[in-house]
Amino acid sequence: MFNQRIKIRQLLESGTEGQEAVVMGWVRTFRNNQFIALNDGSTNQNLQIVAELGTLEDAFLKRITTGASLKAVGKLIPSPGKGQKWELKAEKVEILGDCDPEKYPLQPKKHSLEFLREIAHLRFRTNTFSAVFRVRHSLAFAIHQFYHERGFIYLHTPIITATDAEGAGETFRVTTLPFDGTPRRDDGSVNFTEDFFGRPTNLTVSGQLEGELAAMALSEIYTFGPTFRAENSNTARHLAEFWMIEPEMAFYDLEDNMNLAEEFIKYLIRFAIDNNREDLEFLAARLEEEEKQKPQSERSEWGLLEKLNFVLQNQFERITYTEAIDILLNSPAYKKKKFKYDVKWGIDLQSEHERWLVEKYFKKPVIVTNYPKQIKAFYMRQNDDGKTVAAMDILAPGIGEIVGGSQREERLEKLKERMREMHIPIKEMWWYLDTRRFGAVPHAGFGLGFERMVQFVTGMSNIRDAIAFPRTPKNAEF
Ligand code: ATP
Ligand code: MN
Repeated sequence: MFNQRIKIRQLLESGTEGQEAVVMGWVRTFRNNQFIALNDGSTNQNLQIVAELGTLEDAFLKRITTGASLKAVGKLIPSPGKGQKWELKAEKVEILGDCDPEKYPLQPKKHSLEFLREIAHLRFRTNTFSAVFRVRHSLAFAIHQFYHERGFIYLHTPIITATDAEGAGETFRVTTLPFDGTPRRDDGSVNFTEDFFGRPTNLTVSGQLEGELAAMALSEIYTFGPTFRAENSNTARHLAEFWMIEPEMAFYDLEDNMNLAEEFIKYLIRFAIDNNREDLEFLAARLEEEEKQKPQSERSEWGLLEKLNFVLQNQFERITYTEAIDILLNSPAYKKKKFKYDVKWGIDLQSEHERWLVEKYFKKPVIVTNYPKQIKAFYMRQNDDGKTVAAMDILAPGIGEIVGGSQREERLEKLKERMREMHIPIKEMWWYLDTRRFGAVPHAGFGLGFERMVQFVTGMSNIRDAIAFPRTPKNAEF
C-alpha cells in the first residue's frame, strides 16, 4: 500500500518519541544539505526532516529543491533546534516529483497577493493560502452543522433557471443557440423556442424563490451553492461567481430573521476560533504586517482575533434605514463633504456610507432594517407606512454588506401589486404565487455571501483571495 503515511499535523500533535513514521509532502526549504522543511497542507507548521550528513549522494541532494515532492521514512525525535518540538530523523528519502528551481515561480520569500493571483494554481502552497482554505473549509462545514443542529433541511436549488430572482437583470445567459444564424422571428427578435429549454434561461443569481417553495412545506430550509452575477463591478467584494447560504423559514418575522442571522454569523466565527486557532493566528500576523504598509489614518484599530472576539461578545447594533440616513446627515463626514455619493432618504446606501456607519460610528456590525421599497426587491413585505419594506441588511466592519434579507410578502394581492409596479412577469411566476394561494404563512429568509464571510474571518482584504479560482470581469483563468 502506498498511502500508509501520517499527516504532519497529526504527527506533530500526537507523535511519540521514537515513533516510526512515513510522511509525504512538498519541500518548502532545504538547508545545509541536511534540513528539509516539509509541508503537506495539513498545517502551516513544516516538519523538519533531518538527513544524516554524508548518507545521501550529491546527485540526489540536488533534487531536493523547493517545491519538489517527497516521501520520507524515519523516527520521530525531540528537536534540538528552535521553534519545533519534533523532527524526523530520516532513514529513507524518496523523491516523488522533481521541481526545477529555475522555473518554479514560488520562492521561499514573500510574494505579493497580486502576483499570487496570477499563479492561483500554485498559491495553495503558500502559508497564507493554505490557511485561508483550511478556514474556508471549516466555515463550510460549520454551516451545515449549524443548520443541521436546528432541524433545517439542506435544499439544492437549480443552477439554471428561467427567472431572475432580483429582477436586476445582471444574469449570465445559458443557451445552445448558435451565434451565427441565430433563429429569429419575423420581427427580428431571437426565437428562444428553438433554444435548449425552449425559453430564455440563465445562471441563477439566488436560490431564494425556490427556497421559499420548499419552506412552505419543510418549514426551515437552507441552500448553500454557487450563484452568478454578471455585474460589471471590479471591486474588492464582488465576484461574478460566488457562494451563498440562503436560509428560508416559515413562521418567522423580521426580528426572528435578524436573530437567526446574528446567531449564525457568531456561530461561524466561534467555530473557526475553536477549530482553526493556529491558522487564524497566522492570518492575524499577516494582516498586521499588511496594515503597517498603510498610512496611520487607514489602519484598522483592531487585530484580527480582537475583532472576531469583539463581534462574538457584543450584540449587533440594530437601526432602521431612516435612522441610518439621519446619522449620516449629521455626520462630520457628510458636513465636510467627504462622501462621494449624496445622502438623502430614498438612496441606496453606498459602500462608503455603510463603512462609515460600521467602522466610524458604531464600531461593530450593524443591522439596518426597513428600507424604502423603491430600492428593494418585489418579494419583500410591505410595511404599514406604505413607504418601506421589512428588509434587513447586515453590515460588517471592513466588508460592508455581508447579509441581505427580509420578511417575505405573503399577501397575494400586495405581492401582485408590487410585481405589476416593478414589471415582474406575473404569469410566468405562477408557481411562486401559488405559495401565496395555498396555505400562505408569514416567512422570512436571508442570503449570506460566503466569500465575504471568509474575508471577514480571515482578514483577507480582497474577495479574490477568499475563493480558489475567482471569476471577475475579463478573468476566468484556471
Ligand atoms: P451589494 O450591494 O454588496 O452588491 P447585494 O445587495 O447585491 O450586495 P444581495 O442580492 O442581497 O446583495 O445578496 C446577498 C449577499 O450575497 C450579500 O449580502 C453579499 O454578502 C453577497 N453578494 C452579493 N453580490 C455578491 C458578489 N457579486 N460577490 C460576492 N458576494 C456577493
Ligand atoms: Mn449587488
